Amino acid sequence: MKDIYLDYAATTPIDDEVLNSYMQAEKHFFANTTSLHKLGQESNYMYNMAIEEIKKILNIPHHRLIFTSCATEANNLGILGFLKNYKSGKIITTKMEHASVYEVIKSVEKDYEVVYLDVLENGLVDLDMLERNLDNKTILVSIMWVNNILGTVQNIKRVIELVKAFPKAKLHVDIVQGFCKLIPNFNFNDIDMLTFSTHKIYGPKGVGALLVKDGIDIKKIMYGSTSQYNLRPGTFSVALVVATAKAIKKYYPLINKHYEYVKNLYINLYQGIKDIPGLIVNTPAENISYYILNLSMNMKGETLLHILEAKGIYVSTGSACSSRISKPEKTVLAMTKDEARSLNSIRISLSPFTTLEDISYVIKVFKELR
Ligand code: PLP
Repeated sequence: MKDIYLDYAATTPIDDEVLNSYMQAEKHFFANTTSLHKLGQESNYMYNMAIEEIKKILNIPHHRLIFTSCATEANNLGILGFLKNYKSGKIITTKMEHASVYEVIKSVEKDYEVVYLDVLENGLVDLDMLERNLDNKTILVSIMWVNNILGTVQNIKRVIELVKAFPKAKLHVDIVQGFCKLIPNFNFNDIDMLTFSTHKIYGPKGVGALLVKDGIDIKKIMYGSTSQYNLRPGTFSVALVVATAKAIKKYYPLINKHYEYVKNLYINLYQGIKDIPGLIVNTPAENISYYILNLSMNMKGETLLHILEAKGIYVSTGSACSSRISKPEKTVLAMTKDEARSLNSIRISLSPFTTLEDISYVIKVFKELR
């Protein structure tokens, strides 16, 4: 039986060329970038080259790139590091953020006023609620681009417009699930802090990044050396940064081609399963990335996951980080207000490496479930 991996939103397998660039760089540029000798300087040069490449592709000349171990760490650094500038104030976020934003903001509720924006029936964040809540006390707004559970694409363009009216308020956008999958209809340069993760784009695990616009003051949350703008102490891997640049260089230009391909897979999958009795597709029809299809059946998501696993199909319940806890998935719950439906939800996530044959097999398995 062939393994059909449909959990690309959790993580991706590494691309051979990216792995090769990692190995070459690790072998040749192992020296510490802060060492004063020739080898250190060569490592530092490679690191800077990789950064310049990334900035050029993303067209973000005015952002500093701070490499972390993953997007979770980048979200922690961005939010907590920014909040260190303020003893009080208002933070606006959403009920659908990934735990690495949601739990960080929850942890500071005692010091700041926090507003969690509702998720509407169409899987989008309630931006009227954002408009009503923005005021001169607002210091931070954190809203993700593509939701990791439903695949809905938030209207970041509108968010930017709304937040701009309040100069004190800074905007953080977690772009993890849209990065290298969609061309944004907004400008990264209009966003104060962005986060992405390399293992979601066919790169290695162990590296993510926080992109901070010039002029935005972030304080360190870990102490040690002064590396990476004095924000992220410790010796970092030049090779992981090089591999990140390689993954972006390879996959960014392929966004539209992959999007069309994956959209076709999604439509095939959707058409094939939508009329199965007892199955509800939770991902709405519009404003979606097509990389994620979330559905519920009349059994626990975990049970369905293992039934599919027995047939060689690998999906997930909710986000990978919280998949060992059996509780209603919070984004599906926020959208549907239906506990059973959220407890029974699973996430199928696609990639350009998924084939139509894989999709046909998945449809067949779903049809045989009854
Ligand atoms: N943000 C979103 C939207 C995600 O989907 C994930 C991972 O699932 C993360 C952040 C965390 O990424 P990492 O695994 O690199 O910490």
